[in-house]
Amino acid sequence: MNIHEYQAKRLLKDYGVPVPKGYAAQTSREVETALSHLGDDDTIVVKAQIHAGGRGKGTFTDGYEGGVKLCQGRAAALDAANHMLDNTLVTKQTGPEGRKVQTIYFTEACDIAHEYYLAIVLDRETAQSVIIASTEGGMDIEDVAEKSPEKIIRVPISPTMGLRHHHCRRVAFELGFSGDQVKQFARILTGLYKLYWEKNAMLVEINPLISTPAGDIFALDAKVSFDSNSIFQHPDIQQLRDLNEEDPKEVEASKHHLAYIALDGNIACMVNGAGLAMATMDIIKSFGGEPANFLDVGGGANEDQVTAAFKIILSDPNVKGILVNIFGGIMKCDVIARGIIAAAKNVDIQVPLVVRLEGTNVEEGKKLLRESDVALTPADSLVEAAELIVKQVQN
Ligand code: GDP
Ligand code: MG
Repeated sequence: MNIHEYQAKRLLKDYGVPVPKGYAAQTSREVETALSHLGDDDTIVVKAQIHAGGRGKGTFTDGYEGGVKLCQGRAAALDAANHMLDNTLVTKQTGPEGRKVQTIYFTEACDIAHEYYLAIVLDRETAQSVIIASTEGGMDIEDVAEKSPEKIIRVPISPTMGLRHHHCRRVAFELGFSGDQVKQFARILTGLYKLYWEKNAMLVEINPLISTPAGDIFALDAKVSFDSNSIFQHPDIQQLRDLNEEDPKEVEASKHHLAYIALDGNIACMVNGAGLAMATMDIIKSFGGEPANFLDVGGGANEDQVTAAFKIILSDPNVKGILVNIFGGIMKCDVIARGIIAAAKNVDIQVPLVVRLEGTNVEEGKKLLRESDVALTPADSLVEAAELIVKQVQN
């Protein structure tokens, strides 16, 4: 689960990481209130809040440039905010469709002497957390990683030992900090690690972390992603979820306890079990088709869930065919067949539907489908099913 920069900065502040003062706003009235906290002639940074990076170099769909603007005075900040609010921002990370901006964050501007990169991320391969840092922070960290990987500092942290002072000193020295800055940096890294650890984050990232001409260190941008599997342990974090940033189909699916992820293709899949869902997507691809989604209805799906699943699938205008692939183990084939028949009564299925059932009560399930008036093509194997749906969609 991702959160916005302004929310991440509040968390960072709670953990002792210095951030510039800032105010978030979602409506024109809130924009006015937010700006009233700032000085008339202040330099103000106006920042579009979306769950994607690269905003500074992004462009809005109406041609307005930059989702991060340094503005001289309140009037200029108001003008920038008016351009951004409800406008759609396209960045390297949003894809061409962009993201609608529904929150603006105003911060006091900082003078920058240098921009650094600092993150802690879970490395699944080594089963450790890793500190990643660089003197080449700012807008192009991906390029740095690609073109000059030697400029990326990586320090693993053992999960049993946790972050130690020597880690902080080592990274501080490698970033070139000295004197009081080493202490400041150690406080920042300690706070960042504590936040990462206590809230089950998978990534905490400050880019840029900056030093000012006076030598102070601040977090100017922040990104935090949490492990969705542990969100239930952190009601405070759960409250930060912004449903506007999520695919409405995925939000609807989570209400019905369906594991659904939207994809770019046109063949929708309805499968039970994550492994079978992956295999189904693979085999669709191997016959030259493109899956429109990952959908695992789970072991105990009932009629209502199958109906909800069909509705979600069909709300995607790209879907040109549906492949149902159910292995009846815990779930019985007759139950899923009844689910399909009931769903077809509730939902107008206008696209080809191929159904492959196997496992417990398979004969009963197939008989129910045969005797129903649902327009579908039955298949006996996964290969046959995939071939059939790909052909029907291509025609
Ligand atoms: P991103 O493009 O989505 O990563 O947004 P950031 O918040 O990282 O801002 C992009 C860039 O804007 C930063 O790398 C800075 O160079 C610049 N920037 C952001 N805030 C300030 C500020 O307070 N003062 C100055 N001078 N530049 C800033
Ligand atoms: Mg940034």
